[in-house]
Amino acid sequence: MKFSQIIGHIKNIEMLLKIVKENKIFHSYIFTGVDGIGKKMIALAFARHILCIGEKNDECICESCRMFLKGIHPDFRLVDKTFQASLLGEEPEEQDNIKISTIREVIRFSQLAPSFSKYKVIIFDDAHKMVIEAQNALLKTIEEPPINTLFIFVTHSKNLLLPTVVSRSQVLNFSPLMIDDVFNILKKNGFDENLSFDAAESSGGSVSFAIKHIGLLKDIKEAVKYGQIASFVIAYKIAKSQNPKQSVSSLIDILNNRIYYYVEKNIDRYVIQKAVLIIKRNLTYKKYLRYNVNSRIISFLVLYNYFLFRRELKEIV
Ligand SMILES: [Zn+2]
Repeated sequence: MKFSQIIGHIKNIEMLLKIVKENKIFHSYIFTGVDGIGKKMIALAFARHILCIGEKNDECICESCRMFLKGIHPDFRLVDKTFQASLLGEEPEEQDNIKISTIREVIRFSQLAPSFSKYKVIIFDDAHKMVIEAQNALLKTIEEPPINTLFIFVTHSKNLLLPTVVSRSQVLNFSPLMIDDVFNILKKNGFDENLSFDAAESSGGSVSFAIKHIGLLKDIKEAVKYGQIASFVIAYKIAKSQNPKQSVSSLIDILNNRIYYYVEKNIDRYVIQKAVLIIKRNLTYKKYLRYNVNSRIISFLVLYNYFLFRRELKEIV
């Protein structure tokens, strides 16, 4: 994993490189920000540099960097679904949360002396998935950290971690990516250029969000050709999908992201007022989904309002 492969987050990366260079490593960091913006990739690049026994740069091929890139570094742990599944002899998909038994194993590892590098690094991916008992068990270790052990908690919401874990860590906030950056990452990963453009506009700055919803976006794009009845066509498709409630919820997120993006580009008082109303209404519709409200009707309403907004926007700009 290389820092140079990461798009965006320049300030945070500069700060992490400075930490490595000056060897001012704190024992616990929290990397927080919406999902799908590269936090885990940055945590991995940071870990590689800390463990490195050579040049401490992206091109280094010291023994430590080689082991790290092969995934066999003895002083490194990535605590995630796959790690827990391997401990329990189960499948990664079966792991809904990070259990206390996994954290006990991590604590045991943290107390050993580093066996190759100067440090040991433990990354917790989706750290908020640790059950409360697991976080509590870890707390003492963070309070009295073993020498030369570094913990990195990666999460979309630090509020889901115990306040005592947060207060004993340095928090790095990561902003959503620029829309152009999401577009470039999608294109680089082989997605169709036209679709990538639409997906980036709808992503809210998250690559994983864009990729997850690319199918739904395709449906919306194709339905536009039906003109006045496009809202009915998409609503019908959504109602027939495997999980209509989830699909409507995704649809609302996509449309809200798009509306926000248009407003950002066209700062006009009337457009902003209109956008605020639609986004607010959409968020209320999202709440309705918890009750037994017809998902086809909600899809139709949010799409109808969205297409109306687009038409009005075209008339203004
Ligand atoms: Zn190295």
